[in-house]
Amino acid sequence: SAKTHSFERFDFYEPIMEQETQRRLELVRKLRADFSDRKLQVWYQPQVDLKTQKIIGVEALLRWPQSDGSFISPAEFIPLAEYSGLIVDIGSWVIEESCRQIQAFDESGLPNLRIAINVSVPQFRKRDFPELVEKQIEQSGISPERVELEITESILMEEPELVADILKRLKLQGVKVAIDDFGVGFSSLSYLQKLPLNRIKIDKTFVNNSAHKSGQIIIETIVDMAHRLGLEILAEGIEETEQRDYFIGLDCREGQGFYFAKPMPANELIQLLKEQKDSY
Ligand code: C2E
Ligand code: MG
Ligand code: MG
Ligand code: MG
Repeated sequence: SAKTHSFERFDFYEPIMEQETQRRLELVRKLRADFSDRKLQVWYQPQVDLKTQKIIGVEALLRWPQSDGSFISPAEFIPLAEYSGLIVDIGSWVIEESCRQIQAFDESGLPNLRIAINVSVPQFRKRDFPELVEKQIEQSGISPERVELEITESILMEEPELVADILKRLKLQGVKVAIDDFGVGFSSLSYLQKLPLNRIKIDKTFVNNSAHKSGQIIIETIVDMAHRLGLEILAEGIEETEQRDYFIGLDCREGQGFYFAKPMPANELIQLLKEQKDSY
């Protein structure tokens, strides 16, 4: 039959598959195995009040440790996890794990931190995504207002009605939503006034360029627009004092970046938060 024929053709092409494709398939296979062996980790990077430098929240960031002690970068494996569909289960675990962890931070005397969690398009596209999130937050025992989902502009370019519906259902629960990497996508700005969003995270490429006039024009336009729309702002990728001061001057309340702290395992963050608390 025609079907058998196409399989034969596939078999014929397989031996000459490009090395790069082979390597990616191997990575996906390994990611699936390591995920089911519970080898993935969630690290946490502080989000701070720029003026007081007090930690007000943390962003959950996936880490994939290798047997030699190195890590494969999320920039490399997240796209593979998205492409293969693995991100749906992995992302769901990140939500469960980070909500559980934030509850553990509370219990070690570091209460009320906000937890920011990245969400990929394939997760968001699932019809029952809001219910899944609701269930996971409920199980962790934390208040939904402390959860902020970070989505990228690419999500907003999916099906507008589906996206609007999901955001509405999340809002009803009290869950917050931030637009991550704001400004690097090419989506229309009209969604900013149509959809129930809470925050814009200014992408680090702009923050990187904040010493130059061209960078400042873009940043100041974004900050002004966000303020007028009643959206909160967080500047991502702050590495220098001058950058921090620049954003304070713009009345941008929050920041995140290596200047304050790098992403770290939960136990290190507990240590850091305890030291900070002692210094007040
Ligand atoms: P993102 O969500 O924009 O996360 C911020 C990234 O910027 C993190 O990279 C963080 O380590 C890095 N960063 C923070 N401050 C600075 C700084 O001052 N300088 C520089 N150069 N970098 C800084 P990371 O951890 O490698 O993650 C890369 C991306 O992978 C994330 O970008 C996010 O899009 C994705 N990702 C990570 N964890 C998850 C996850 O659990 N689910 C999904 N869907 N995506 C994730
Ligand atoms: Mg993010
Ligand atoms: Mg970002
Ligand atoms: Mg991102």
